[in-house]
Amino acid sequence: MAYFGCHLSNSKGNLAMVNTARSIGANTFAFFTRNPRGSKAKPEDPKDCQRAVELLKEENFGPLVAHGAYTMNLCTADPEARAFAAEILTDDLRRMAALPGNFYNFHPGSHVGQGTEAGIGYIAAALKNALRHDYPVKVLLETMAGKGSEIGGTFEQIKAIIDAVGSANVGVCLDTCHVFDGGYDIVNNLDGVLKEFDDVIGLQRLKAMHVNDSMNVLASHKDRHEKIGEGSLGVDVVRNVIKNPRLCDLPFYLE
Ligand code: FE
Ligand code: FE
Ligand code: ZN
Repeated sequence: MAYFGCHLSNSKGNLAMVNTARSIGANTFAFFTRNPRGSKAKPEDPKDCQRAVELLKEENFGPLVAHGAYTMNLCTADPEARAFAAEILTDDLRRMAALPGNFYNFHPGSHVGQGTEAGIGYIAAALKNALRHDYPVKVLLETMAGKGSEIGGTFEQIKAIIDAVGSANVGVCLDTCHVFDGGYDIVNNLDGVLKEFDDVIGLQRLKAMHVNDSMNVLASHKDRHEKIGEGSLGVDVVRNVIKNPRLCDLPFYLE
């Protein structure tokens, strides 16, 4: 079964998102748990969640992927800001318990000069702490373009976080624009990249795909998304990705 969806606005609540997804022929969707450029979250509405859960089941939707705020940097240098980010993470997972069995993906963070190793340590510590609560949600680390001091630009860094957390509830969301900008040549060698993912992380950890084209060239470390078919990936690569036998059962999201 293939699941396709896109990012929807949660300004009108969960049930409204399910209905919007149905109206565009989607059978999954992604959404921000709170303001993507801030930290404010909508007040919780258990009734709305309950009705959304029922409709998702009735309509045979695939798993949803909630996205953490871009501003949540678990490995920022200031200890207070870092603790605040960790609190946001825990609160997001707690909120996702109202939509059980779905995913929560986020950008691992930027170490802002402290070094990759220290950054990975902070991210893993925050995750370990948040996962202690055993909320019914799996966390997905997003593969990044490696812009600036961003962590997650290599499969090895993602694997290091997974190992440090040591939980089966940590997976990966692969973003086609990010991996290409990060230097993984999915245009000429998709199978080689997937083999490398499998060797380093293990494909069983791959739970969702962000399908974006890229404005930039391979290994540009830029992270500028382009409309599908209008960037350096092109429509054939997107087709290869969604039809690949090792990927075709995952949920795919247009951003
Ligand atoms: Fe993202
Ligand atoms: Fe993405
Ligand atoms: Zn991006």
